[in-house]
Amino acid sequence: MDSAEYERKIAFRFAAFDQDGNGYIDRADFSAAAARLLAEFGTTARCDKGQALYIGAEAFWQGMAGIADVDGDQRVTREEFVGGAVKRLRDNPERFAEIARPFLRAAIAVADPDDRGKAAVPAVERALQVLGADAGTARIAARSLDADQDGRIAEDEAVSAFADYFTVIAPDA
Ligand code: CA
Ligand code: CA
Repeated sequence: MDSAEYERKIAFRFAAFDQDGNGYIDRADFSAAAARLLAEFGTTARCDKGQALYIGAEAFWQGMAGIADVDGDQRVTREEFVGGAVKRLRDNPERFAEIARPFLRAAIAVADPDDRGKAAVPAVERALQVLGADAGTARIAARSLDADQDGRIAEDEAVSAFADYFTVIAPDA
């Protein structure tokens, strides 16, 4: 992979976190992601699922800041993301999984109105689109997340796929 290709992949991953597109990742991006998911699935912020999602989003932000916000200004710039998040998480993907897990668990619950403990593939596709993925990418990603092919996506499938996406930047990723 040449450096332009690597830069392009980093840019996609940064953009996935920078939900408001203002050029840095901060707490507002995580609460925006939570708000979009709740709106998409008609869930209120006050109910248990909504509360869990906001708590998960805050924990995710705190974890991201702890790893990547080198200068402590409560913003993760693209340089901090590349130097901190990508490098350090690649060395320790389990850490990233644990940082992301409460948010992903809560997001799956929001996308699982029947409380089956797993989200249906089309619901995950909707969630990915509302977080900024284009339709084609969301469809492919949602299907590939369903590792055991039961038509639904469990917390562990989401966590491991998510950690892979952000820590393994391979030529075919
Ligand atoms: Ca932002
Ligand atoms: Ca910073």
